[in-house]
Amino acid sequence: MSTLSRAQDILGDLIRFPTISVDSNLQMIEYLKQTLTVAGAEVMIQSDPTGTKANLWATLGPKLDGGIVLSGHTDVVPVADQDWTEDPFEMSLRDGRLYGRGTCDMKGFIACCLALLEKVEADTLQRPLHFAFTYDEETGCLGAQSLVEELRSFPLKPAICIIGEPTGMRVIEGHKGCCEYTTHFTGLEGHGSAPDAGLNAVEYAVKYVSHLLEVREGLKARAPENGRFDPPWTTLNIGGLHGGVAHNVIPGKAHVEWEFRPVQNSDYDYVTGEVRRYVQETLLPEMQKNWPDANIVTETIGEVAGLEPMDTNEARDLVLALTGENDVDVVAFATEGGLFQSIGMDVVVCGPGYIAQAHKPDEYVELSQLAECLDMLDGIAARLAS
Ligand SMILES: [Zn+2]
Repeated sequence: MSTLSRAQDILGDLIRFPTISVDSNLQMIEYLKQTLTVAGAEVMIQSDPTGTKANLWATLGPKLDGGIVLSGHTDVVPVADQDWTEDPFEMSLRDGRLYGRGTCDMKGFIACCLALLEKVEADTLQRPLHFAFTYDEETGCLGAQSLVEELRSFPLKPAICIIGEPTGMRVIEGHKGCCEYTTHFTGLEGHGSAPDAGLNAVEYAVKYVSHLLEVREGLKARAPENGRFDPPWTTLNIGGLHGGVAHNVIPGKAHVEWEFRPVQNSDYDYVTGEVRRYVQETLLPEMQKNWPDANIVTETIGEVAGLEPMDTNEARDLVLALTGENDVDVVAFATEGGLFQSIGMDVVVCGPGYIAQAHKPDEYVELSQLAECLDMLDGIAARLAS
């Protein structure tokens, strides 16, 4: 059986696990574990706090530093309210395309990783080949965050990480981060005719928003030279400002929904630092002077680190060489790549299928894309064996 038909068979199996982010991925993790164990890999399972989801980390070959990580997420986005031609959890082949939820984002890549196992002799590897398969990527990279925490104190230090998100096998070296928050303001409700008897939460929320807009202006000047992102600076958006019940009532509660997309890690520190300082040194003391129980609480909805393009990047250079691509680009969507970069790995994003098909009804991946991916993975295995 060719490696491509093997990958196709495995993908059919993986699609049958309905690993929507809210649901368990344990059956799929068990399947991955079985396949990797049979191939001679050492497998570690890391459960989430509820015990209903897990990450998988596996190592094939010698226990040495260096080596390459192949990384993918096991979860998929929901199919509710989408109009699918056929069952999204039963893969179908039409016109060279494999249809099903997750074929492109990103079980196609995981299937290629497993198909590769048949061709790799563990004891020929000079450096290790690692596999990182995570949960809850689509809901804020939660699985990768705890995996990376574990890897931080891990005895082996992998050098390179390849994130197989759908890029049409183009080589991607960077993306912005995505940090989302809801900030809650608690004041004191009262009658509009007696302003001193209440504390207007909406007014403080407005001051907070004004400060965020000042921070946003500062971000433009911080844009790295020759940045390729569009726009090249860290953006900040106010997505919502809610509060109040009627014209003549002092609102006791308000909340602001906001996000920013850092182009560099230092902008993350800048924004969070500026905002924290303003709240602690200015806004909150001002509120509490008028009403001691007043409060401002920021809830983190999700923080996905950006993947910062680097001058030297072994992962990018390797994948360029293996795919024969000449161009390196950046993309608008976020991945788990920044997390792996944060623990010292060189990271590149390159995988089969196109982001345009991800998350859509009738999601598909072309067989030709899987074939290209298998070629790249062959090259990686050959590299580790030499
Ligand atoms: Zn994805």
